[in-house]
Amino acid sequence: MLKIALSKGRIFTETLPLLAQANIHPLEDPERSRKLILDTNQPAVKLVILRATDVPTYVEYGAADLGIAGKDVLLEHGGEGFYEPLDLKIARCRLMVAGPVNAPPLRGRLRIATKYAKLTQRYYAEQGEQVEIIKLYGSMELAPLLGLADRIVDVVDTGKTLRANGLAPIGAPIAEISSRLIVNKASLKMNSLIIKELIRQLQEAVSSI
Ligand code: AMP
Repeated sequence: MLKIALSKGRIFTETLPLLAQANIHPLEDPERSRKLILDTNQPAVKLVILRATDVPTYVEYGAADLGIAGKDVLLEHGGEGFYEPLDLKIARCRLMVAGPVNAPPLRGRLRIATKYAKLTQRYYAEQGEQVEIIKLYGSMELAPLLGLADRIVDVVDTGKTLRANGLAPIGAPIAEISSRLIVNKASLKMNSLIIKELIRQLQEAVSSI
């Protein structure tokens, strides 16, 4: 039995064509079903529907054999708990610092609102800058508007959400983001042939799309 963990929404939708090329077709749509473990046309392959931030945890502990998660989530999770053999090149965006357009120069310790608290701490430490991190769980764009923070660190795709809230990117991206396939280390040893073949098929699918 192979369990593949992934989240609903954009990652699921963009992963489907890749899985299809590996002849894996879910029998149900997670947007319609309340089931969290979906059967596929292959009786030995199940899709496990999780919150994006929980995918690396399930794979690290071997509760799922494989997972699909954004590089942003993997960088925030950190650690060496799984292999990351394949860039699926889907759900692409950039991780950026952003702040209010035409803000007066800031003095003192910057306050940064983000859901990527660990990653942001590491990033500013590498720059030699001491900042105060304010951990949020969503709608980061609000924080500078209401004076909660000077800047935000968030993923940006078209930049429309930033612009609509009077914000603009500052500096170069912290990281280019796309979804990655991750694999539990013990599963890869135990199911080496099956998992390596699946990685090969997904790699082919990524190259052909
Ligand atoms: P944007 O196209 O820049 O206006 O993005 C809209 C919102 O969607 C942003 O606030 C991001 O948080 C989120 N977003 C965009 N792309 C991604 C992605 N690839 N993964 C996760 N969240 C995303």
